[in-house]
Amino acid sequence: MKLKHETSDPSNTNKNSKIFSLLSLIAMSAHILYMIFFFSCKINFMGFVNIFSVAFYIFGFFYLRRGGSIYRFMIMTMFEVYIHAILATLFTGWAYGFQLIVICLIPVPYMLTLKRDKMVYLYSAMNITSFAVLRIVSCNVGVILTDVRIKSDPSILYIYNSISSFLIIIFITSYFKISNQKLNKKLHEQNLELKRVASVDALTGLYNRYAMNEFIEQIEKKGEEYCVAIMDIDFFKKVNDTYGHSAGDMVLVEVAKILQSCVPENGFVCRWGGEEMLMLFPKLSLKDGIGMVEKTRKQIERTNFLWKDKHFSVTATFGVCYTKGGESLDKTIKKADDSLYKGKDSGRNCVVGAA
Ligand code: GH3
Ligand code: MG
Ligand code: MG
Repeated sequence: MKLKHETSDPSNTNKNSKIFSLLSLIAMSAHILYMIFFFSCKINFMGFVNIFSVAFYIFGFFYLRRGGSIYRFMIMTMFEVYIHAILATLFTGWAYGFQLIVICLIPVPYMLTLKRDKMVYLYSAMNITSFAVLRIVSCNVGVILTDVRIKSDPSILYIYNSISSFLIIIFITSYFKISNQKLNKKLHEQNLELKRVASVDALTGLYNRYAMNEFIEQIEKKGEEYCVAIMDIDFFKKVNDTYGHSAGDMVLVEVAKILQSCVPENGFVCRWGGEEMLMLFPKLSLKDGIGMVEKTRKQIERTNFLWKDKHFSVTATFGVCYTKGGESLDKTIKKADDSLYKGKDSGRNCVVGAA
């Protein structure tokens, strides 16, 4: 099972493994200090428990280095820390602050799963109960697991345990925060990619109607004048019937390239549907718009297509419409469409404009 916040990006997982293996070494060092403390106090049982903990973190270090699951490591670590904190409190009493470690473990299971998981709440209940029981036992019965009385001042270990608890909480919260930031960044990138895919025509690479509507909305907001030209390839069915559908596709791709090369930087071309494409020229009068479209028409007419050793050419008819802005998009497109049909009726391969 994977840590739920991990992304599938391998470099990310590698980085996380490095962070957690470093953490494993830090925890190992902390347990060496505990081990020295317990053996020096003649609480040998806890000394041996800490030998086990040191061995556990050495194993954890190599496990993570070899690409082991961070999720499993964290679950095992959570139980190791929990059991150690409880035993150490029972052996030393309340004054040494081992119970603080029990508190700082609370966020760990919430970090490991984003699901509404009953186990997480059960674990929290177990934490709270054990903290309360430890408090009652330590303050009413005293140290119950050993007769050894520690002579050293508890303040130093209390501060050491408090600082360890603070550091564990800081690590958990910052790891959670960074994971969330990474996840948000990834979501944002995926959203942008989805938006791009949703607004681009797969065959020609031109924008689609959806993107065009957004573009026109922006121009309308600025209140700018613009020219719209709708192009329809003449007798395109014949191209498909004569040379095949794939040849028709190739023509669409090439015509799309021509249109794109003829539109200025601030302009826009989209596949309007089938073999109809739409060009948009912001801040252009009808006369200039017709002039640009006429150049495009000529370029299509001049282009020689080659498909399976056969040469052929196509022509296209354009309907152009000018608007000062403020008019509905449907109305503007309808005018351009009407001009296009006039062009088709008057023999095709021409540009017809309307204000
Ligand atoms: P007209 O001069 O009147 O426009 O004649 P036309 O044959 O071009 O007629 P029309 O515009 O109605 O034909 C559109 C044809 O375009 C019909 C359809 O098979 C073809 N077509 C639409 N989309 C595609 C496509 O993605 N690839 C190919 N190869 N053909 C397409
Ligand atoms: Mg058509
Ligand atoms: Mg056509």
